[in-house]
Amino acid sequence: MLLVQKYGGSSVADVGKIRQVAARVARSVAAGNQVVVVVSAMGNTTNELLALARDVAQTPGRREIDMLISVGERVSMALLAMALHEAGVPARSFTGSQSGIITDEAHANARVVEVRPDRLKASLAAGEVPIVAGFQGVSRSREVTTLGRGGSDTTAVVLAAALGADECELCSDVDGVWSADPRGVPGAVRLAELSLDEALAMARNGARILSEDAVAWAHREGITLRASATANAGGGTLIRPTLPEPRVVGVVADVQLALVSAEAWATLEAPCIRAAGPWGAVVDCRNLHGAPPGVPIATVAVVGTRCGADPTRLVEVLALAAACLGESPERWWASADAVVLVVKTSDAPALERHLHFSMLGRAGISAAP
Ligand code: ASP
Ligand code: MG
Repeated sequence: MLLVQKYGGSSVADVGKIRQVAARVARSVAAGNQVVVVVSAMGNTTNELLALARDVAQTPGRREIDMLISVGERVSMALLAMALHEAGVPARSFTGSQSGIITDEAHANARVVEVRPDRLKASLAAGEVPIVAGFQGVSRSREVTTLGRGGSDTTAVVLAAALGADECELCSDVDGVWSADPRGVPGAVRLAELSLDEALAMARNGARILSEDAVAWAHREGITLRASATANAGGGTLIRPTLPEPRVVGVVADVQLALVSAEAWATLEAPCIRAAGPWGAVVDCRNLHGAPPGVPIATVAVVGTRCGADPTRLVEVLALAAACLGESPERWWASADAVVLVVKTSDAPALERHLHFSMLGRAGISAAP
């Protein structure tokens, strides 16, 4: 099989962990697979680099931000290649640009427009494991760009599509996608499988384990994803282009948002806008890198196949929310696979727990054994 494996920041946080990743990759190769590896920056590196930028300038330029934060993934790629050499596995590291990841010019939140993985194919043909620096590409004007926070997942998915990989495995310290954040929601369960539509609705509404751009690309290309723990073989969550019966699979909260007035939202970049109405816009602050606009706000979303397209379900979610908050939420929207409620940031944790308990708490649908 041809596999693309992506290892997140916590999986390469120190030299010992990098050696563990090298051993895991070596096992996949020994089992007869061809493997392309994508790495994130070590641990908290990207945040540390961004903090340095903010120490130097109040509003650092987005081109220079990209020059700075693209470095994190390059450190990991070189160290992992060295660790594989030590383990006796031929490997070669590549930057995003060397991997043929061509993007638009939107610094710090660029979109992949073309993938030309010739060098990776040659490396595979030479019996090597190509190690790709995630989260970055090059624009047509030859500028270094980055793909938005969590963008290493996007690197992995676009390469899986371009190389025709059998599976794209996203490895992190969490063993898959859960029905809610298990740190804050009692009764949350790991989901053994999800449709790509459901995974996209989860990513879009703030599930941190999945990057929205990556899942959107997988959705478009019909790529099978597996979210796994680096420490385990097997298990995890299998995400495929299936169409399950209508159901609720999870509740996700997002607190990295701002509510912006109707006049102000026209000036913001479109990819940051989650939803807009006469009441203004809900804006995703993750890739803004400047003073946050508007007032902080949160969303809590109920996600599952067709759950936003079913009026009975919608009424049920709104009634449960009103019971928890003491008043009906003023702002909400529904998409095919989600009902999304806009609430005060301080209300989000309780509402997330209440909705999960009411809709999933006892059912634990599709929970892995
Ligand atoms: N290092 C980048 C980030 O922290 C990209 C990634 O980890 O996927 O957002
Ligand atoms: Mg993005």
